[in-house]
Amino acid sequence: MTTKTTTPETHAFQADVRRILDIVVHSIYKDREIFLRELVSNASDALEKLRHLKLTEPAVNNPDAELAITIETNKDAGTIVIRDSGLGMTHEELVNNLGTVAHSGTKAFLEAMKQKGSGDTDNLIGRFGVGFFSVFMVAKKVEFHTRSWRPGAESLVWTSDGQGAYTIEPGDASQERGTRLVIHLLDEHKEFAEKERVREILEKHSKYVPFPLTADGDRVNTQGALWLRSKSEIKDEEYNDFYKFHCHAWDEPIDRLHFAADAPLAINALLYFPSHNPEKLGFGRLELGVSLHCRKILIEADPKGLFPDWARFLKGVVDSADLPLSISRETLQDSALVQKLNRVVTKRVIKHLEELAKRDADKFKKFWGEFGILIKEGVVTDQANRDALAPLLRFESSASEPGTLISLDDYVGRMRDNQKAIYFLAGADRASIESGPYLEAFKARGLEVLFVYEGADEFVFSHLGKFKDKEILSGDREGLDLGDAPTADGEPLAKDRLDALCAWIKESLGASGPKSVGAGDRLVGSPAAALNADKFATPGMRRMLQAMRKDDSPLAPEVRLELNPRHPLVKQLDALRERDADRAKLVAEQLYDNALLAAGLLDNPRLMVSRLNKLLESLSK
Ligand code: ADP
Ligand code: MG
Repeated sequence: MTTKTTTPETHAFQADVRRILDIVVHSIYKDREIFLRELVSNASDALEKLRHLKLTEPAVNNPDAELAITIETNKDAGTIVIRDSGLGMTHEELVNNLGTVAHSGTKAFLEAMKQKGSGDTDNLIGRFGVGFFSVFMVAKKVEFHTRSWRPGAESLVWTSDGQGAYTIEPGDASQERGTRLVIHLLDEHKEFAEKERVREILEKHSKYVPFPLTADGDRVNTQGALWLRSKSEIKDEEYNDFYKFHCHAWDEPIDRLHFAADAPLAINALLYFPSHNPEKLGFGRLELGVSLHCRKILIEADPKGLFPDWARFLKGVVDSADLPLSISRETLQDSALVQKLNRVVTKRVIKHLEELAKRDADKFKKFWGEFGILIKEGVVTDQANRDALAPLLRFESSASEPGTLISLDDYVGRMRDNQKAIYFLAGADRASIESGPYLEAFKARGLEVLFVYEGADEFVFSHLGKFKDKEILSGDREGLDLGDAPTADGEPLAKDRLDALCAWIKESLGASGPKSVGAGDRLVGSPAAALNADKFATPGMRRMLQAMRKDDSPLAPEVRLELNPRHPLVKQLDALRERDADRAKLVAEQLYDNALLAAGLLDNPRLMVSRLNKLLESLSK
């Protein structure tokens, strides 16, 4: 316990607080009214915490006081008073909470400032509110009268003008548990002591506070928990207001899911799909924004285990009447009940997204653009939901326009009768896949191919393995059975000549050459292609593995060099090796490097320049 406070003490604010105060006091931010939203939200948090303490602590001060927030304005004096019967603060807590930046919202503000530079201060103030300190946008002096919930706690007053220091001194004996905040407004901001103005602001920002809120004797919020009301009574505008209020959001969500279920658990959930993914902008890892309630009462603002990791884009509320009210944070995560909730709500979210794709393709496209990467993460990491997530995946394909995305269901729906598998090709972009040597075999047979452009996509396919019983295969693999060969122009090289040529190339290229050399009917316009003979890694994965390795020694690719027996270059090479073995060897080497280059497997393309020069020289011989 701290010792009794007997005389006024003056403390300097910590450096970070001074920075915040400096920004807040000197900002020319227009919407200064948000200070009220921040203070009411703190009062509401304090009440929420008190409600929880009453369940877990043997004794609290004034246990029977109603949990409520009251606001009074005094136009003549230019003051507003905000009272809450929440948990209050001790001397130590006043120093920690109002003298330093240890708390969530304000800290996030400082971090965002660092990332963006200070150019966009106004926008950031609007988004983060800057918590308690935003009061100094409008106040010349603030008195924070408080008494903690702890039995025997002293009454204290924290006072500051926001200029670098604050004092703490003994407070009125009549102060009950909780807080009474007296705000002395600056002359130019006296409007905030007007009854109507305050009411208007509260209705705009604080309508969904989950405790009775009165301003000058009139009740402001009568809405209650939106998620427990019936869908048909709720307007879009209310849903969006609630999103902004409850989820501290500033965007319009792409979509929402509001449902009630009785079995296997009693659940009322209201979930939002935000319109932006801050992870994409490098703002660090997203955190799930869904709070867990039991019959309206907040159990945990930041519940672990309520959703799988990949679903961290969600915001909103899950309420289950089956949760025990007194469940502690520690046991929550491991509780079988939460795991069961997780299974049920995750399934609903996935189903909802599938329906959204059918109902409103544009909205789904927007969702996919922001959060597709998290759905892919889910396929790789969440075995339980892997198959359910697969229909949400979207790709470009050889049969769709650039920029148009298709699903695996679209693909399977138009597979040819004799088609055995789902094929994909990976490359840096569409153009490099289309100009590479692999696509032609599929085109010639009228087979569609999915195009993927990120290394992660190949992991997605390798984890998925199959979709609707169709194997998913990389189109650069050796030994793919693509069915009937297409009709091709020109006579192929005779079988015995071909075998001899392959053996000769294999020998000429030696140990650093391909694992095998052969001929096949895949190629149409290209003379040769490097097929991936590594069962475990596609070229994209190999690149990622290479990047993760500490030393730079290249991971040798396992490759089969496949020749096109009808191609003039192959026929000419066969003739050349008898006429001029040295030159033929240069051509064979170049042919192999070209194939590796097209496959993205050539680690040092510069080495081939000197060979090309030699070949060019030999033209004049
Ligand atoms: P945040 O709400 O993001 O934590 P604030 O700057 O709004 O940051 O508030 C700072 C801290 O001060 C809170 O985390 C809380 O511990 C404390 N606090 C503020 N207002 C009250 C209140 N009315 N009752 C009890 N504690 C409060
Ligand atoms: Mg706050």
